[in-house]
Amino acid sequence: MNENTVKVRFEARPENQRFARSVVSGYLALADPTVEDLTEIKTAVSEAVSNCIIHAYKDCKEVEKCFIDMKISMKQPDQCMITITDYGKGIENIDKAREPMFSTEAEKEMSGMGFTVMESFMDKVFVKSKPYEGTEVVLIKNLDICNVH
Ligand code: ATP
Ligand code: MG
Repeated sequence: MNENTVKVRFEARPENQRFARSVVSGYLALADPTVEDLTEIKTAVSEAVSNCIIHAYKDCKEVEKCFIDMKISMKQPDQCMITITDYGKGIENIDKAREPMFSTEAEKEMSGMGFTVMESFMDKVFVKSKPYEGTEVVLIKNLDICNVH
């Protein structure tokens, strides 16, 4: 099942982190999630999108050409899947990047907790990446449906 797939493409601008969260909220309203689930999903999405903006497109010269694609679908009536793709610099060592407190921007006081937050709030997190081609992060969460119709 891959129901009601929504795809959006936006530029890698910091303000679009909020836009991405709003799209997720709007989409998931249809599934009637709990406030807790929704907050956790929005936080995970924010982390993934901020990574695209800060890391993937760190050297982006023309923001109009630095895209982020987000795809949302319901894999099951109570399971959502969100895929966030960038076409930026890629991740050299994914296992290392996923370690808590690992950051290539530690000198900028980044805490290196983005992937850890995604993993703790979502049921599954898959990461695929190729240097100079980009990165795909897949976030999957089983929802506690609060209203059974
Ligand atoms: P924080 O998220 O706590 O502010 P952070 O972004 O450095 O800090 P993570 O989100 O866990 O921490 O990411 C770990 C590292 O993985 C980053 O420092 C960066 O090197 C790399 N990374 C993550 N996402 C991407 C991406 N989309 N493209 C390129 N590199 C990435
Ligand atoms: Mg991060």
